[in-house]
Amino acid sequence: MKTKTFCDSEVSLLGMGNMRLPTSEDGKIDFDRAAAIIDRLYNNGVNYYDTAYVYHGGESEGFVGAALKKYPRESFHVATKYNCRANPDFKAVFEEQLERLDMDYIDYYLLHAIGDSTVDTYLTNGCVEFFREQKRLGKIRHLGFSFHASLETMRKMLDFGGWDFAQIQLNYLDWLFYDAKAQYDMLTKAGLPVIVMEPVRGGRLAKLTDETEAQLLAAHPDWSIPSWAFRFLMRLDNVKLILSGMSTLDQADDNIKTFNDAEPLSDEDAELLFSVCKDFKKQISAPCTACRYCVEGCPMEIDIPVMMDIYNKFKLNGRFAARAINDHEHSAKDCIGCGACTVQCPQSIDIPALMDELRSAAES
Ligand code: SF4
Ligand code: SF4
Repeated sequence: MKTKTFCDSEVSLLGMGNMRLPTSEDGKIDFDRAAAIIDRLYNNGVNYYDTAYVYHGGESEGFVGAALKKYPRESFHVATKYNCRANPDFKAVFEEQLERLDMDYIDYYLLHAIGDSTVDTYLTNGCVEFFREQKRLGKIRHLGFSFHASLETMRKMLDFGGWDFAQIQLNYLDWLFYDAKAQYDMLTKAGLPVIVMEPVRGGRLAKLTDETEAQLLAAHPDWSIPSWAFRFLMRLDNVKLILSGMSTLDQADDNIKTFNDAEPLSDEDAELLFSVCKDFKKQISAPCTACRYCVEGCPMEIDIPVMMDIYNKFKLNGRFAARAINDHEHSAKDCIGCGACTVQCPQSIDIPALMDELRSAAES
């Protein structure tokens, strides 16, 4: 397993994100199947496990604590996050998190999903001073933030100062078309190590179109499609850790293989990847990462990421694919265009417009 020195520790370059764990029919985490993934990763040298107060409806932290219980505490690193929207009472949240994890300290603690509309709350509600005090007390080892916002907001975070690291959405598509490169450069210039989230964009870059996959496979028949995304990130010196939200043992095995053997992309391969990415981008429309931030506020109880997934299939496969919305009790047909979802969307997707297009396609 490749490792890097990150905040004075030797940390595996691959980290496990615990937000897409396998679940049972009742929607709860399937402990045995999920713990088998943790065991496979731990036994192959993965020593960083990322969770959050809100993942899996609050279940993820308890799961991570229980799944890692059998291993020596100093042999792994745990990261979790405070989300001011989910529960503004940061003192109560922190105590609850230590209880859920059943741990005395948290290795990496993050302000969760800094956004343009939440940054001021995070910086003025007293939470930073409280978490810094927890750091002095040894209950937090390193303090940082995860980020889904504009470059102006990143500047505000950097000017505030005192952070040990930052976590950003970084992958070759965001590098080419969105702010990821600019964010990475700002953080690197400020001396902050970078953790990558969404390296395959919520799975979007794990399965490209047939045409674009064929171009990559022609160059390297033995490389998996997701491994191209990881090999791209390995080119970046200041990427210290790459999180992958693994849901199956197969994904874990593929990632372990990549992070054991893979080398960074050559310049020639990077050029090919960028070219393929441009083709791919033309063929997809909604850059949804299935983060589900939009779902709770929908008055019509529409499973928005499911609709976005159908939308993308419709864009790739034709109008018949849009009819899959009819399999859902609440669907794009029920959208009232209120826009409550759009303001929550880190990808700035115009969800009501896409719902409208999807509904029209399904009815045609
Ligand atoms: S615009 Fe549609 S999808 Fe978005 S919150 Fe309103 S009803 Fe839900
Ligand atoms: S539409 Fe936006 S907020 Fe909703 S799941 Fe997709 S990326 Fe997340």
